[in-house]
Amino acid sequence: MAAFEESAFDDHERVVFCHDAQTGLTAIIAIHSTVLGPAAGGTRLWAYESDDAALHDVLRLSNAMSYKNAMAGLKFGGGKAVILKTPDFDGTEALYEKYGEFVDQLNGDYVTAEDVGMSVEIMETIARKTRYVSGLPRKEGQAGGDPSPKTSYGIFKGIEAAVAFQLGRDSVADLTVAIQGVGNVGYHLCRFLSEAGANVLVTDIDQARVKRACDEFGATAVELDEIVSCQSDVLAPCALGATINARSVPELKAKIVAGGANNQLETQEDGQRLSDAGILYAPDYVINGGGIINVASEYYGDADDDEVMRRVADIGPRLTGIFETARQSGQPTNVVADEMSRALIESAAQ
Ligand code: NAD
Repeated sequence: MAAFEESAFDDHERVVFCHDAQTGLTAIIAIHSTVLGPAAGGTRLWAYESDDAALHDVLRLSNAMSYKNAMAGLKFGGGKAVILKTPDFDGTEALYEKYGEFVDQLNGDYVTAEDVGMSVEIMETIARKTRYVSGLPRKEGQAGGDPSPKTSYGIFKGIEAAVAFQLGRDSVADLTVAIQGVGNVGYHLCRFLSEAGANVLVTDIDQARVKRACDEFGATAVELDEIVSCQSDVLAPCALGATINARSVPELKAKIVAGGANNQLETQEDGQRLSDAGILYAPDYVINGGGIINVASEYYGDADDDEVMRRVADIGPRLTGIFETARQSGQPTNVVADEMSRALIESAAQ
């Protein structure tokens, strides 16, 4: 494993390898940038194919968090952590407490919260050992708690902005949205969309989750390998990354890609591919910023729940600005968003 030569290494400030033989904890915490504030980003629990794959993921995700936090206007830098689901991983409270100790040793340079595989309960366990954790249970009306519903609300507002820009429609009513992955984020997105009158198609490797979305929101189930190519207006990737690539773009029928998954583009060139195909792409780290907006409001204690919803709704106009700049400059939306976020971080560094 050569960290500094890793393709996703982007001048990260610090990468911490954490291991505890007693609890079996193996984790990597990556701090990409603390220019705008403490490096904030969730902890992902995942069974990686190799340590190299875990390192690549955490470097890439933490970099995206710097951009995401900058674009959301938060006083947060970018960081991320992965806990490796090794064959003998048993997810005990002792393991998560140990992880909390590692987070605490960074003295607030890294603030954690939920990501894939995590829950509010696990965050509470981590919080026994560190105060640098967010996404904890909240009291009625206050900011905090599971960030997923806020993430989904932001995606919903982003989809509304995208359909207005691309299709000239003032609502998602009667449009078809295909959601890939109906876990925490996809489930709540399904709710917002069905309440607004959209036809929702769903798929997931977990059939119980598909059934829940169909039963509760009247969604229609689609096979796993059909979600990208099915007849829809919007494709909302809400599972893991790299859904958009050289193989999938030619199959897409949707005119918009706007969903919650991080790292939706397999490579940066896939943004150009979408643009060339006339498909509008809502940059993932802009549209899925609702959760971290919630986390920041909880961490800094500067907003109640209503104010958080207002801040999350700003994702819509923020995306419209990116779409307009992309149209004027002829650049793909992902390149426009990257340039905007880098400029925000660089101006703060001066
Ligand atoms: P989750 O684990 O609750 O849900 C992911 C779902 O995707 C699961 O139901 C899983 O079975 C399904 N899935 C995995 N691979 C699939 C495949 N190939 N095809 C179809 N379904 C598949 O995770 P989540 O919290 O909902 O996060 C989803 C995505 O959104 C992740 O990329 C995450 O990084 C990103 N994200 C989440 C948040 C948040 O607030 N939770 C915030 C920002 C970004």
